[in-house]
Amino acid sequence: MCDSKDYIVLAEEAPVRISWCKHCKTYSLVFGTSYLSLTKQGLSNFKEVLEELKGKNFCYDHFGVNKALLRNNRSSAGIYLSKKEVSSLLEVIEQGTTLKEVYHVLYQ
Ligand SMILES: [Zn+2]
Repeated sequence: MCDSKDYIVLAEEAPVRISWCKHCKTYSLVFGTSYLSLTKQGLSNFKEVLEELKGKNFCYDHFGVNKALLRNNRSSAGIYLSKKEVSSLLEVIEQGTTLKEVYHVLYQ
């Protein structure tokens, strides 16, 4: 995350939060202790990956909850997500990008 205070929280539904940095023109997606900084294209790619997760992807047992593993290039650890977490991520991304378009119209 950059040091700029020039960001707007677009949508939040604990533990997911999406914000937009007016300085870097990037989205920040915070999920619990995980953090992703994404361009508009990057966010749309990430959304696609989430949407493509199938039942068989949720094959990791995390204390009795089946989770899917998402790896990203910058962290070798990756992120484990349950189906519920995937749907709340998608919901927050959807809300956030919609609101972003509204702001874009308002502040252009
Ligand atoms: Zn920034």
